[in-house]
Parts: sequence; C-alpha cells; structure tokens
Amino acid sequence: MLLRQLDFQRELYNAALEERIGAWQWERRSVRYFDQCKTLTELVDVRPEVVACGITLCRGTLKRLDRAFVAFFRRAQKGENPGFPRFKSAQRFDSLQWEDRSGWKMKVEERRLRLRGIGEIKTNYHRPFAGTPKAITVKREGTKWWVNVRCVDVPAQPLAATGRKVGLDLGVVNLVATSDGKLHVGELFGAQTRKRLALAQRRLATKQPGSNRRCRQVEEIVRLHRKVKNQRMNAVHQLSRALVNDYDLIVVEGLKVKNMVRAPKAISDPDQPGKFLPNGAAAKAGLNRSIHDAGWATLLSLLSYKAESAGRTIVTVDPHYTSQTCFECGHVESGNRLSQAEFRCCACGHEAHADVNAARNILRAGRAQRASARVGSKLTHCPIVSRRGIR
Ligand SMILES: [Zn+2]
Repeated sequence: MLLRQLDFQRELYNAALEERIGAWQWERRSVRYFDQCKTLTELVDVRPEVVACGITLCRGTLKRLDRAFVAFFRRAQKGENPGFPRFKSAQRFDSLQWEDRSGWKMKVEERRLRLRGIGEIKTNYHRPFAGTPKAITVKREGTKWWVNVRCVDVPAQPLAATGRKVGLDLGVVNLVATSDGKLHVGELFGAQTRKRLALAQRRLATKQPGSNRRCRQVEEIVRLHRKVKNQRMNAVHQLSRALVNDYDLIVVEGLKVKNMVRAPKAISDPDQPGKFLPNGAAAKAGLNRSIHDAGWATLLSLLSYKAESAGRTIVTVDPHYTSQTCFECGHVESGNRLSQAEFRCCACGHEAHADVNAARNILRAGRAQRASARVGSKLTHCPIVSRRGIR
C-alpha cells in the first residue's frame, strides 16, 4: 500500500509540475503552493485514491515541489547552475511526507505507526523521542522503509564548560586538523565497499533489461550505496560529537566546497617543451571524490546542531591565507607551504604541520572576531587575515 501511495503521490507531483510549467508557458502566470493546495479538494471527486491517505500527505507532496522551485530560483538568482525541477520517475521518488500532525499517529509503546488510509505498520523505534513530534517522512530505501520524525520543542542538553577552544582546518588528506595538533583522517571508510560496488556495477551490465536477475542486481547496488552512506554518516557523527564534547568554542572556516573541486592547472615541463609534468590531476580526481566523501558540509551541519543543543559556540571565519600565514610571525607567503603537510616560514623559519598551522590561524581569527563582535549578536564572516598578516 505504501508503494501504491508512492505511485499516486508521484503522479500528483508530476501533474503539479506540469501545471506550473503550462501556466507559465501559455499564460505567463505563476502557480504557487497555495494555489495548488486549493485545487486538491477537487481531486476528492476525480481521483479519490490519490487522497485516500488524507490531504496532509498530498500537501506534503506539493510542498516538496514548492521547495524544489524555491531552490531553483535561489540558484538562478545566485548565478549558479539552476537545475529546473524535473519530472520524477519511479526510481527518483521514494518518500511520502506528512507536513503536519494529521493523518498519522505514533504508538511508541505498541511499536506501531498508524497512517490514515494505510493502516498500522510495525515499527522499530530505535531511540526515545525528545520534544513533540510534528511531521514525518516515510522513506523507501531499497527494500527497507524508514520513518523520519521531526520534533519541535526539543529540550537542549547543555554540557559542562571545558574551558577549551579549538580551530578546525578542513582538508582532504586529513578531514579535520585541530589547532591543538590532532589530525582526524577522513575518507578511508567506503574504500572497501567501493570496490565491491564497482564489481556489482559491472555485473549489472551483463543482465538482461527487465529481468529478475537485473532487478536483484539493482537491489544489491542500492544496498552497497546505503552501506557506504551509513559508514560515512557514522564516522562524521562520531567526530562531530567528540569535538562538541571537548570544546566550548569551535572556529571553522567558511569554505566554498565547490571551488575546491576544480581540476588543477597543467604544469609544462621546462626541459621538454610541449610535455607536461604531473600536476596531480589524477590524485585530485581522487581528491574530488573524497571531498564529497568526506562530506564537509555534512560535518559542519552536524557540528552546528550538536553545538546548539550542547550550548557550544561555533564561529565561522574567512579562510583566506590561513594556510599560507605563519602562526608565529604572521608572514604570508605561498612558499611557506612546502608540501601538502609541511609548513616552514620563509621569514622566521617556524616549522609545523601545514594543516595544524592553518587551524591555529583559524582559531586566532575566530577569537579576534569574537572579541570585536558584540557577544550575543549574530556572528558573521569578517576578514581578519589580510595580505600583511593577521591584524
Ligand atoms: Zn614566521
């Protein structure tokens, strides 16, 4: 029944998208979320099976389309690649969303979830709830189903102050380097599974389209992808938890992940004209993957919500020159950084691990920013590090 509902909601999603496109194409009229919600009542007579699970679920689907459009316009305004919302095939549509508190009920004690129009589903609630459940998403992952419960008024769990502050340098070889010299290696998880994944992908190519074997192989691939994702999330959760437990103030760099994912410049060989020296493009291709793997964005978001709940402070600083600046004397030069890991100041000769040096600069910038900003006001990006060194 859930699968059937997925199909109906997908149909609704695609129809709503078509309505928006058509209205703009033919009448230069924009259709909004609320307009589309109003037309839902007409569906009761025409397609009762679509609204069998309640209007809330249908509204959730329309909201999802609305979010896709909001994100599209935001990207278009910023001049990024906008990516128009697409029609969803069965493989790209795998969640049902209830946006408010009607149409579903959690029965934690009986280990059941009641969904209107579907019935009671045996559920494994794997952790106690905090706060008031407000909205749910039921999601299919391969052959498994998950319910994601969003709660409001979740009580904070403040931690005792430790009196310690830290700056974090986010990197690729070391996912995180802390200003007190600890290096957390990222990326290693998933490497094993990736091999198996490649094999599974090759096997998929040998299967007849539409066959049961192909279907099973697709499931195997989905399973492996899920495994990589779980491993990654687990590692990032543990790391962010450890950081939030250990430090009162965490300073991070405001990174633009996209900029880091570009291909490196070609280096021509001075001895052989027309030839090129290895520029690390292959390594960088691997790095690009690990940038996504490492999931900086995920780390930052997990850090910020854990910090908020624990009463810790997170400060974002401008990352410019933090990796080229000497922590000891403030001398800025790209030659300071000898290699990925080595740092030796050209002015004072200070030597350190490059990432740790950067992390210490970041911490200093964060503290300066904190000192200048009024405590309690919203802390935003301000350049602390200039060409001439740290002010
Ligand atoms: Zn120096």
